[in-house]
Amino acid sequence: MKLATYRLPGDGGVRHGRITDAATVTDLGPGDLSAVLGAPDALPEPSGEHPLAEVTLLAPLLRPGKVLAVAANYQEHVEETGGDRLDKSRISPRLFLKPATAVSGPGEEIAIPSVSPQVDWEAELVAVIGRGGKDIPLDSALEHVGGYTIGNDVSGRKMDYGHERDTGDPMVGFFDWLNGKWPDGFAAMGPYLTTADEVPDPQKLDVTMEVNGRVRQQGDTGQMIFSVAELVAFASRLMTLEPGDVLYTGTPAGVGLASGEFLSAGDEMTVRVTGLGSLVNRVR
Ligand code: MN
Repeated sequence: MKLATYRLPGDGGVRHGRITDAATVTDLGPGDLSAVLGAPDALPEPSGEHPLAEVTLLAPLLRPGKVLAVAANYQEHVEETGGDRLDKSRISPRLFLKPATAVSGPGEEIAIPSVSPQVDWEAELVAVIGRGGKDIPLDSALEHVGGYTIGNDVSGRKMDYGHERDTGDPMVGFFDWLNGKWPDGFAAMGPYLTTADEVPDPQKLDVTMEVNGRVRQQGDTGQMIFSVAELVAFASRLMTLEPGDVLYTGTPAGVGLASGEFLSAGDEMTVRVTGLGSLVNRVR
């Protein structure tokens, strides 16, 4: 099933519900989808319905406890940005966190921040934790995923703080890379959550990014170095996972960094993942 967080017209507030057909959302209560994520099989009684055209879809989780993401999880993307071929047996997933204030929803405009003039796109599959856990075994890891949505891990490729900096220390590059992941709006996700039962194999999904209608990324989740299950199991060794935590699973080749083309105000990014809809965000 497809679950959504949305805003009612006027000051009707933020609600969550189930998209029952192409035109209707059945209301399940106030707030975002964190209210039902732990137990989507036991949804509350519907409290009315709304035409989809009259509501504004928001990010499925507005302020997730954790926005986890993984760098360098598609080999071709690693190589297009100057990296070497990775030997999976000799590495571990390169997890990092983005702040909850980075979350933006479908249709939301994403601003180019003053500290980061080179802004880039990253189409990704996003797994949303339904059942929490610590030290989750690999063979049951997918049982902890409540659903999937589409993500755009928007990334600042160069930081500019308005003064000259020494760049000899490799840690400067690392922190610039990390800080470029943090600006407001840079964790776009949506347009809705598709429950895990409708995604029997998360490693068999096409992931594409179009910028202004031109296809820039075209990959499939079978190309991931670490699978969704491996990422969930590994992350849970580092920290307790909780319902509503979200995990960006990495981006395929075709980012702007590879060609030196970055986003400008007015550009429109459209991410599609098989069965999950499309996520559109314009840059301002
Ligand atoms: Mn990414």
